[in-house]
Amino acid sequence: MGITYVPAEATGRAAIDALDTLLGMLDVPFSRGSRVGVKLHWGERGNKSYLEPAYARGIVRWLKDLGMDPFVFDTTVLYSGGRRNAADSLETAASHGFTRDFLGCDVVIADGMDGRNVVDIPAGYKHFKTVQVASIVHEADGFVIFSHFKGHLAAGFGGAVKNVSMGFASRAQKQRMHADVKPVLNQKRCTKCGVCASVCPTGAASMQGDGYPSYDLEVCIGCAQCIAQCPEVALKILWGGDHEAFQEKLVETAKAVWDVIGRRTTVINALVKISAECDCLPGKVEIISEDKGFVAGTHPVEVDADCVRRVGEDVITKAHSYLPWQRQFSYAREIGFVY
Ligand code: SF4
Ligand code: SF4
Repeated sequence: MGITYVPAEATGRAAIDALDTLLGMLDVPFSRGSRVGVKLHWGERGNKSYLEPAYARGIVRWLKDLGMDPFVFDTTVLYSGGRRNAADSLETAASHGFTRDFLGCDVVIADGMDGRNVVDIPAGYKHFKTVQVASIVHEADGFVIFSHFKGHLAAGFGGAVKNVSMGFASRAQKQRMHADVKPVLNQKRCTKCGVCASVCPTGAASMQGDGYPSYDLEVCIGCAQCIAQCPEVALKILWGGDHEAFQEKLVETAKAVWDVIGRRTTVINALVKISAECDCLPGKVEIISEDKGFVAGTHPVEVDADCVRRVGEDVITKAHSYLPWQRQFSYAREIGFVY
């Protein structure tokens, strides 16, 4: 099918109409009656840049009009906040408007209410021989990967590849991917506010007698919550060993998931509210590009590559100059994750 693109230069009704136009142009790889999961991110509690539920409602309506039986889903996350367990995540979803009443379909936590509805699938790459993901990969007849294209504090940018990877991963798999991400403190910027210690889910970050935080890297699970939430940007990532490993692990997990779901999946990226950081952060984040519209395709790497081109490599690099985000593409080629 290649890439389908519909521009949208403003959020709100115009963007919702643009997405509807795009949906009307797509061929779908599902047959009538299919149970189709719409993978999306309903935003961390307090986040202001997530994609409003009106977009998801449009996708659900489109699938229903085609005779499908849709549902929307996400998985639980590593860090503290409003999505760490299924009950909290559903509450956060509802508070952002992602309800059955509004969307017209079920809202599902794909790794299960206890986080154990997961399955190991083959990978066979240098980091992972297998990856552990939500069992939904086997349970749904088809998928729509609906991703908010934006910057990301560890990946450089987050789009469809990240949504297929981190978005489907079990908490254990998320932890394995984050193992190379550790905080390092710039004391000159630190105001000793204690936020990093208060958000740390493992106790690895703690405030010391001199008022500064310290980080026990043996206990740290690399969730990056402290880095993300430090109000002074006093924390950077101390990459363990190989600074490209995080990108490669993202890609390996995405490829393993894609090998299972790729033939029955449509990919849509939203280039609206293009923020410097992901929708996992509370509060308002910097917007780094004007709205561009919606891009759809049949392969996550192709759709992400198109989005990078539209937003501009320089814009992504400027937002996170120390992150080798290009490795997502070169490593995808190396392991045959190609379109
Ligand atoms: S110290 Fe480690 S575990 Fe704690 S919030 Fe930071 S990255 Fe996460
Ligand atoms: S959140 Fe940032 S400014 Fe506050 S104590 Fe931690 S490192 Fe320092």
